[in-house]
Amino acid sequence: MKPVQKVIDAFESLPGIGPKTAARLAYYLLHVPQERLEKFASALSRLRLETKECRICFNIGESDLCPVCEDEHRDKGVICVVEQPLDLLAVERSDGYEGVYHVLGGSLNPLSNIGPDELHISELIDRVRGGEVKELILATNPSMEGEATAMYISHKIKELKNSRTQELKITRIGRGLPTGAEVEYADGTTLSRALEGRREI
Ligand SMILES: [Zn+2]
Repeated sequence: MKPVQKVIDAFESLPGIGPKTAARLAYYLLHVPQERLEKFASALSRLRLETKECRICFNIGESDLCPVCEDEHRDKGVICVVEQPLDLLAVERSDGYEGVYHVLGGSLNPLSNIGPDELHISELIDRVRGGEVKELILATNPSMEGEATAMYISHKIKELKNSRTQELKITRIGRGLPTGAEVEYADGTTLSRALEGRREI
């Protein structure tokens, strides 16, 4: 295959990039100095090698623990549950959240065969079971799948309520985030408001 076509195909395989954009990017790169191209290529090829999933919250980091879990100033008693690492970044941008996270890795979606076992739900339950968690903020997307996931988790957690988890509050982010809007794309102010407006479920 021709080198330019190979690059076009590679770009086209990315989400949200159509054939026209793929071609434009490939031709743009033809005019970029070789040195910059090599930096770009090496960053890509090292992306997976040099990143790790946090063993506690499944956020992306460079070591066993992500920067949030490692930070001793974060309140380990509050866990914000999100679908993807990008959602976590959005909440971090919103400023003012001092708890920690749990990244599920997606949302329940029977049509795509994504059930509870495909998400990091059992690990979340293990974290809660310890009894140190005081609040679980369900910040999955306000989509059908996100709502179903939040309901499922809340149900599961209520099932395991024992003497140690009696104090646990389960909340759902609310007001401010319109139905269908995604956490990932919400601006900081909207997310702050959605977090403030969370209600117990
Ligand atoms: Zn972590």
